[in-house]
Amino acid sequence: MLKIDSHTHILPKKLPNWSDKFGYGDFIYLQHHKKGYAKMMRGNQFFREIKENAWNPELRIKEYEKFNTQVQVVCTIPVMFSYWAKAFDCLAISKFLNDHIAELVYKYPKNYLGLATIPMQDSELAIQELERVKELGLQGIQIGSNINDLNLNEERFFPIFQACEKLGMSILVHPWNMMGQQHMQRYWLPWLVGMPAETSRAICSMIFGGIFERLPNLRVNFAHAGGSFLPTIGRIRQGFDCRPDLVALDNPIDPKNYLGKFWVDSITHDAFMLEYVLKLQGSKRITLGSDYPFPLGDLEIGKFIEEMDLDNGIKEDIFYKASLEWLNISHERFN
Ligand SMILES: [Zn+2]
Repeated sequence: MLKIDSHTHILPKKLPNWSDKFGYGDFIYLQHHKKGYAKMMRGNQFFREIKENAWNPELRIKEYEKFNTQVQVVCTIPVMFSYWAKAFDCLAISKFLNDHIAELVYKYPKNYLGLATIPMQDSELAIQELERVKELGLQGIQIGSNINDLNLNEERFFPIFQACEKLGMSILVHPWNMMGQQHMQRYWLPWLVGMPAETSRAICSMIFGGIFERLPNLRVNFAHAGGSFLPTIGRIRQGFDCRPDLVALDNPIDPKNYLGKFWVDSITHDAFMLEYVLKLQGSKRITLGSDYPFPLGDLEIGKFIEEMDLDNGIKEDIFYKASLEWLNISHERFN
């Protein structure tokens, strides 16, 4: 069976020193301090150590063979978004990262599909880059759950979503810049608590802001099975029912109406939770995801789903059909 991993991250092996080039800011750069490893540095601060499978496409393909997975949808690591930088500098960084991904897709068309990053802080430049990466053969974009603390329903982002719908470009919304992180540094809480909340923040903002209502053909996938959105949908609906004066300000439609319209990935680490997500979303709206190559990901690429007692049709949906529909690609490409 074809398997498409809809959520993976990649970087070029070498990054320019953008702090020197632009003359400000703590941009990410890589220190290849020992063979097969690199340190991601933010200014002088160590951010994270990555291994060769974060940049070596052939090693990645080999690692994926162990889990019978042929296709990886790649995008950058959210810390590279650089929405905080000057828009033209962010555009330059985005182009560098997007060209790398486009080359990869061109070179290994049966193994890689690409999502771009765009300078969301400037709608005009963002759309300009969106149009360019469409020409380069990328399938869509990855964006953050908030843009410099602004929610995705802000009017300034609407033209970008509108352009995505018009151009048929898909969107992956990824949590980052986690709310409250400065108050919960211990125990990795920004990743364990902040990230699921961020994704719910993004989904709620897009629903209540009427984005899905105004753009019914926009194809959006939310990382980590939608974070805490689906587990708290009962509470969210209760809020919508009991305080429409606070919640239904811009969209009078019940949030439950949007279940099964957007996509979520399968990264739950938990069969029981995936069954629950299946009940709400349906199998056509759950894409196999891993967050490879990072340790908090499902690095056995959906092995727990293989082991679940699910109909073959449901497994086919999750393993590839839902991704093909989200990305608007035909199966023939991978024959
Ligand atoms: Zn991720």
